[in-house]
Amino acid sequence: MENLGAITFRENALLVNETAASHAELERIADVVAHELAHMWFGDLVTMAWWNGIWLNEAFATFMELLAVDAWKPEWKRWTTFGVSRAAAMQVDGLEATRPIEYEVRNPHDCRAMFDLLTYEKGASVLRMLEQHLGPDVFREGVRLYLERHRYANAETTDLWRALGDASHQPIPAIMDGWIFKPGYPVITVDLDGVGLKLSQRRFQYLGGEADSGQRWRIPVVLRAAVKRGYVERRLLLDGEEASVELPAKADWIVVNSGGHGFYRVRYGPALLKKLANAAMKIAPIERFNLLNDSFALAQAGLMPAVDYLDLTARFTAESDRNVWTALNSSLAYVNRVIRDELRGGLASLVRHRLAEKVSLLGWEVQEEETELDRQLRGDLLRTVGTLGDDAEVQARAREAYARYRDDESLVDANVLPAVIAILAAAGGEAEYSEFRDRFKNARTPQEEQRYLYALAGFRQAELLGRTLEMTLNGEIRSQDAPYVIRSLLGSVYGRGLAWDFIKGNWQVMARRYPESAYTRMYEGISALVSAEWEREVRAFFAENKIDLGGRILPQYLEQLRVAVAFQEREAEALGAYLSRQKSR
Ligand SMILES: [Zn+2]
Repeated sequence: MENLGAITFRENALLVNETAASHAELERIADVVAHELAHMWFGDLVTMAWWNGIWLNEAFATFMELLAVDAWKPEWKRWTTFGVSRAAAMQVDGLEATRPIEYEVRNPHDCRAMFDLLTYEKGASVLRMLEQHLGPDVFREGVRLYLERHRYANAETTDLWRALGDASHQPIPAIMDGWIFKPGYPVITVDLDGVGLKLSQRRFQYLGGEADSGQRWRIPVVLRAAVKRGYVERRLLLDGEEASVELPAKADWIVVNSGGHGFYRVRYGPALLKKLANAAMKIAPIERFNLLNDSFALAQAGLMPAVDYLDLTARFTAESDRNVWTALNSSLAYVNRVIRDELRGGLASLVRHRLAEKVSLLGWEVQEEETELDRQLRGDLLRTVGTLGDDAEVQARAREAYARYRDDESLVDANVLPAVIAILAAAGGEAEYSEFRDRFKNARTPQEEQRYLYALAGFRQAELLGRTLEMTLNGEIRSQDAPYVIRSLLGSVYGRGLAWDFIKGNWQVMARRYPESAYTRMYEGISALVSAEWEREVRAFFAENKIDLGGRILPQYLEQLRVAVAFQEREAEALGAYLSRQKSR
């Protein structure tokens, strides 16, 4: 909490043992510290005039947090990592139940609903897009003007636009109003048009299909084409429905949203997609991230067959960037929640195939000359291949590693340890469960406590998961953590049915005991209850019990569930055939 000159932190957002913490844990602390410091200017020195302008505080603090951490530790590649957060905002903003970043606030209810991904992550994304469009120096000059003009006073969004306009001599409101005051974002369809390209835009919606809402944006587009003699770059402001782009020669491949800062998706025509997939390892990590992430979103929206997406992932077996793997792994986890039980073996086999090359390259031990991100990636991949991929060899190695760790904690790298714990939970039983429960209760650092706590949701046996659920109400798990543990159980194909039954029986106690914001976030997990029958139950539950989570949060969760069930129904047959073939590998 960013009181002027007196910032307060949760313990686990400030206290850390630097040598024992994983990179993700260190990064989060750096982020939070930088974010709260940024509020000394954005929020404290200049305060929004009213709650409608909360994004001026939170989007700016988020943007500055990234800028500061990136300047402090360029090797952390914080702007590439931010792709993951931007993608999360795009997920919500692709729903019918989204909202504009800024809207009129008339009561505390309206105000509470603003503290979400759209304010923080979409807000920071569109600021980054504008910063890149105007140029960092001009942008900074505009922000400086804004802070100077309104210090020790209040400001509106229009004041920021005026300052940025004075610094850049560009019509800022005309460019930005569509991103701030209107919901949603566009998808740009790109097709070959002779030697050049044709671009067209429409709103992207998961449940929209091919329909066109008529909404248009002014989109700062940067695209890069590989031609015989190197690359050509084109910058344009796509402000109508369509635009043509001339190129000097026929391109080998083209990447739209070059640099990856745009808050829009790209849908390549079949020929262009094929060329780009062939060249995937030649484009920047954030561009590969966007290629996968946009393609999976298109598949979820029914604009690309799911099996085409799974084929595309086969191009990424040599991938070295952690964020790209995050997109890939999370899409495969999503597919796992959608498919029938008998296909899990096929999916596990596909997961092992996609990850094998990189897992064997990285190995288990820290190597000389490797980056922070490689160390993290090792942990991520081992975790995925040992849990979702059910790799027996990796599970056996994880048991050995944990045995070594018991003797001497320095023998297992801090980035590998969380993966080892997660794998042991997925492959373990009673013995591992009671050990992890003891470790959770006697943890020496907040990070250790969290690791073992969430591992208790990662087991597969119903009886063990039932014990974890009990702990969420009997005081053994703090009430600030319990809702997140339940959310984590909802996300597990082994725990979701149990967790859902538990919620139905105990929601009134939970509503009284858990902090309000965490209680709300718990229900985020309902979108993993992917079956037509669960969907009916979930809708009936909220209607009968008249549960309102504030703002559009519940409609968003319900729509995400609808997207997943629609995906399941549309793709069941094709995924069934495709994944059964994987099994025989
Ligand atoms: Zn903040």
